[in-house]
Amino acid sequence: MWRRTDYSESSRVVTVLTRDHGRLQGLAKGAHRPDSPFLGRLDFLNEARATFGADRGGLRLLVALDLLHERRALREPQRFLAASHLAWLSDLAMPHGPEPDIYDLLAGGLALLERCPAAAIPTVVIGLELRHLALLGALPDLHRCGQCGAGLDQGAFLGRNPGLYCARHAAAPRQALGRIGLALLQRLQAAPGREWPNLRQPGDVRLAQSLPAQWLAAATEQRGNLRGLVFAAPVRRA
Ligand SMILES: [Zn+2]
Repeated sequence: MWRRTDYSESSRVVTVLTRDHGRLQGLAKGAHRPDSPFLGRLDFLNEARATFGADRGGLRLLVALDLLHERRALREPQRFLAASHLAWLSDLAMPHGPEPDIYDLLAGGLALLERCPAAAIPTVVIGLELRHLALLGALPDLHRCGQCGAGLDQGAFLGRNPGLYCARHAAAPRQALGRIGLALLQRLQAAPGREWPNLRQPGDVRLAQSLPAQWLAAATEQRGNLRGLVFAAPVRRA
């Protein structure tokens, strides 16, 4: 369940992201009634098995909804922001049908955001963004110059296009990237998600977070309004 809007006094239109059919919209009739079978199930980011009526060219009817997993932990404000940002990215990525890899990343990402230490939320978000960029085919090489392929051990710079560049192929005026921020991105890319919370070191995240933001903006041509809030929240040091 991703979004819901009131349709009439008693009904709601719900938007769900599904593994097999991409984004679907349906009408949940009588969802506002106190005896509705949907009551308490149409909550944001809950995982459910949804049954829709036949597609008759208009709005499908949501016939049944079996709750599989209620993500209560995501109601905590910073987790909620991070989860909403991830769901927004996933929604953008499935406009025309199923995207099972994107869906799996969303489901796995929400599970991580539910249980990671609060201080690790920004780090986990960056890791998820890198995976998401990779699925979109928009993750630049984090180890080599985007133009000549030279290793970036001597320094990485921004170029005219998204990506990382050696000193020779940097765009003028040359803007060097901090070694610490880049190292965190490289470690997040290499490590499985369950290890991400252990990779953070105080200060790293702020240095690392601007690059995925630029790459996502270039890949999606949109900027999420929640992302800034995830990183604006005080990063507690564990
Ligand atoms: Zn180069």
